[in-house]
Amino acid sequence: MADLKKEIENRRTFAIISHPDAGKTTITEKFLLYGGAIQEAGMVKGKKNSRHAVSDWMEIEKQRGISVTSSVLQFRYEGKCINILDTPGHQDFSEDTYRTLMAADSAVMVIDASKGVEAQTRKLFKVCAMRGVPIFTFINKMDREARDPYELLEDIENELGIGTYAVNWPIGSGKRFKGVYDRMDDEVIAFEGADFRHEVKAQRLSIDDPILEGLLPEDQYQTLIDDVELLSGAGDEFDLKAVHEGKLSPVFFGSALTNFGVEPFLKKFLQMTPPPTARTADIGVIDPFDPHFSAFVFKIQANMNKAHRDRIAFMRICSGKFEADMDVKHVQSQRVMRLSQPQQIMANDRKILSEAYAGDIIGVFDPGIFSIGDTLCMPKEQFTYEGIPTFAPEHFARVRQVDTMKRKQFVKGITQIAQEGAIQIFQEIASGMEEVIVGVVGTLQFDVFKYRMENEYNVEIRMENLPYSHIRWIDTPDVDLKKLNLTSDTKKVQDIRGRYLLLFANEWSIRWALEHNEGLELSEFSR
Ligand code: GDP
Repeated sequence: MADLKKEIENRRTFAIISHPDAGKTTITEKFLLYGGAIQEAGMVKGKKNSRHAVSDWMEIEKQRGISVTSSVLQFRYEGKCINILDTPGHQDFSEDTYRTLMAADSAVMVIDASKGVEAQTRKLFKVCAMRGVPIFTFINKMDREARDPYELLEDIENELGIGTYAVNWPIGSGKRFKGVYDRMDDEVIAFEGADFRHEVKAQRLSIDDPILEGLLPEDQYQTLIDDVELLSGAGDEFDLKAVHEGKLSPVFFGSALTNFGVEPFLKKFLQMTPPPTARTADIGVIDPFDPHFSAFVFKIQANMNKAHRDRIAFMRICSGKFEADMDVKHVQSQRVMRLSQPQQIMANDRKILSEAYAGDIIGVFDPGIFSIGDTLCMPKEQFTYEGIPTFAPEHFARVRQVDTMKRKQFVKGITQIAQEGAIQIFQEIASGMEEVIVGVVGTLQFDVFKYRMENEYNVEIRMENLPYSHIRWIDTPDVDLKKLNLTSDTKKVQDIRGRYLLLFANEWSIRWALEHNEGLELSEFSR
């Protein structure tokens, strides 16, 4: 029992999010280096060199040099067991990223110091805010000319509507990036020289240490003294509770590439980020320290290994301990089963697990019974975790098979890919599967879909883009579709569960629908 508590307490599960190119991969790699999980830089994602990334496994990723699917990286650091949920940086893969965030206990947001908050960060942030996920900010690339730090903090506060607390403060930027002042330890970490493998050598000095004045150029020394005074006068107390509620983001400055301030960030972050948090089920909150195993599925990935045509369901363990030979219940099907070959997946490396604890992510072979959001628990228990919301697609296309003889494969492929949640499928009201409307969050998903239909299911398809950009589920019970008063460019469809939806070409048509149909209830998410 004591072991269980200790194992769970020591786990930290978080996602790293950023706008593409802000430095997420570089920082992840540095974490893995410090933890001894990899030996050299360039192993995580070789998008700019010939080596394939550890976290890229799909053919299309290799072709395009982007990271499409998310993977999980586990390593130990200072006695803690760390699970990093790597999220695809490409903006078109936001849906997958959104779901991954549901499995994390906190998020690290990497921001480019010369750019501030960017479009993709904003979107991801909305999802974290929706769930009250604690957010830690790492302002990266301080070794380049950066925006004013006060301005950057203001940008985060205004753009994202969250408070900030600068845990450390940069001394200069670009070539004049000399170090950071750690406000919590009240000391200056003055960098002495770059070491691209490990954290850079640094001297730790008290702010009133006379050496400091000699170490910094005069103007930088004066700015630092002024900044420290200004910050301590600002009176914003560090409030860990507010951090855990997702209302206050601790901010760190550094440079992932040159290893400035990354390890100090990791250490502080690990102290502040919570151990596995309790998740809500229909019977109430489930305590992660409850010895009974429970988990929910947050991601399904088919054909990860082309030779085996397998399908893997990724689940986040929410309570207790998982052991390889134990029986568990899949609540949605009420089946008791033994999870087949539970594994930890680090991209192409798969390790069969004998045990795992709350906070961990495991992948299991899915014989086709799991769906995203499903719950697993002990055979004698019965509850379901809160579902994972389906995010509203923003692009739609009509899809047809070219060869009508391949109908079976067409239906199989399109349904399986939809079950994975990579696409959403809709149909004309009361029609068959000859023609399907596919909705995606980002247009690149169309290409991935087409590629996979052709390569994995051997079906050639033709896609015709549709002019819709907004979708709403109709929540009004017993709605009479024929009586709805809608603009001529609004389309009525249904999803695979038979629920009715409306596709709109613009916001204006949504307003029209609401104004001209009394009592009509529309929702952006299907739960
Ligand atoms: P991702 O798309 O967010 O995963 O970004 P990457 O980690 O792939 O980084 C994008 C580019 O920025 C790469 O060329 C990195 O070498 C570079 N980069 C990352 N961190 C830093 C940094 O701290 N300073 C500088 N100058 N470049 C960086």
